[in-house]
Parts: sequence; structure tokens; C-alpha cells
Amino acid sequence: MRVLVLTGAGVSAESGIPTFRGKDGYWRNLDPTRLATPEAFARDPQLVWDWYRERRQRIRNAQPNAAHEAIARLAHHAKDFLLVTQNVDDLHARAGMPAQKMVQIHGDIFVTRCSRCDWRTELRDADIHNIRGHIGLAGACPSADGNEQEDVEHGIPTCRKCRALMRPGVVWFGEQLPWNELQRVEDFLDGGACEVVIVAGTTATFGYIIDWALQGSPECLRGELIEVNPEETPLSRFATRLVREPAAIALPRIVNEMIRS
Ligand SMILES: [Zn+2]
Repeated sequence: MRVLVLTGAGVSAESGIPTFRGKDGYWRNLDPTRLATPEAFARDPQLVWDWYRERRQRIRNAQPNAAHEAIARLAHHAKDFLLVTQNVDDLHARAGMPAQKMVQIHGDIFVTRCSRCDWRTELRDADIHNIRGHIGLAGACPSADGNEQEDVEHGIPTCRKCRALMRPGVVWFGEQLPWNELQRVEDFLDGGACEVVIVAGTTATFGYIIDWALQGSPECLRGELIEVNPEETPLSRFATRLVREPAAIALPRIVNEMIRS
């Protein structure tokens, strides 16, 4: 079985991660669609970093839900499988999704990268504990220049190679999708049509999400295109099956059906 799954913010919303749209997404009365931009970072990098640190913390405190777990289970059963997620959190990974079967097309919130050169760091919980431990040891920090220290608590980290400002490793509105990740999606789609494409928890506002769903499930080959979303989206009219339920309710059932058949 060849399967493509596309997920969006709705899947993580059920774990308590607020989506950008709707009033829950607002932070200090600011609209996230205006904060997640290169312009906002150029104007007020401290504000943007404060917001991303809060989001990171919220994600660390959240747990994967039944939708994340169902998708990971499907990944292990399907012969050819790719998950393309628009979510920058690590909930798919923590539910057991293997990295080689997943593309985070909008980046990874736990990556901190230079706004100018190719330098990047990843800061996971284990690293934070290490760094805190080292700070306690009177400045015997594992990194030579202490950028990661700064990153843990506050301030704007700077690049250890070129001294430019570091930024979260996510794709902001108006930015290009990462080339390597795009290539991985294209390679999978070039590998042949899918028996099943599942699109879950996304309003499919980005044209490329619709394009990939349709490319993965060409009409002439009668693959199934399943949309899981409580509301209608621009993709709905192309779907062969509409499931108007939250992903955490619908996906465990759909995956069970697929694995049994
Ligand atoms: Zn740099």
C-alpha cells in the first residue's frame, strides 16, 4: 500500500497547540499571521523570540494525541508512506513517526538558525537541562560562546559563525519552502500514485497542499482521497470521502479500517 498523509494545525490543536487562525491564536493581542513574518522579525526580533519561546514551551508541555498515534501506526504498516506536515511542533515525532517518513514542510520550531548564513542548532529538552546544569557550574558552558545559554531564557541569540541574529527554524509567511524538503515530497510523488491520500486538520489554504493531494491521488487511477476536517475546505470538492470530525476521533477509526483490509 502506498499512502500519503498531509496534516495541518487542526491535528495539533487537539493537543492544545493553538492554531494561528481564530482568537486562541492571538498572543498579547497580536495576530500570529503578522508575527510569523520576516518583517516582524526585522522590526522587533525580541518580540518574535518571546513569542516563539512561549510556543516552544507550550509544545514541550503538550502530548501527542490519538491522531498523531494513528498516523504513526499507519506509517509502520504501509509499504510506501510519506507524511507531509505543516506543523512545526514535534508531536508527530514523539508519537513514533520515523524521521525518514516525515517532511516538516514549514520547518521545525526547535531548530534555531542563522538569519544570514547556514549555521543552525537544535535545542531539545535534554540540551536545556545540560546547559542549565553547566550554568550552575559557574559558566563552564558546553558551547564556547554561550549562544545556547542566551537562547534558553531570553535575549536574541547571535550566530557563532557570522554574528548575525539567529531566528527560529520555521518558514514564515511570504518565505520560500525549504528546497530539500520540497524535493523529498516531489520524489515521493514521482514514485507513483497512492492507493490512499489522507488530508487531516488543514484548511488547505496553501495551493501546494491541494496540488500534492491531487497529484498523489490522480482521478484516473481511482485512489482514495480522504479529507478529515470538521469544516469544508477548498479541497473538499475533490475528496472521494469526507469525514467531518476532529482528527483525533476520525483517524484511529480510518487507520484501523485500512490496516484490517
Ligand atoms: Zn551566521
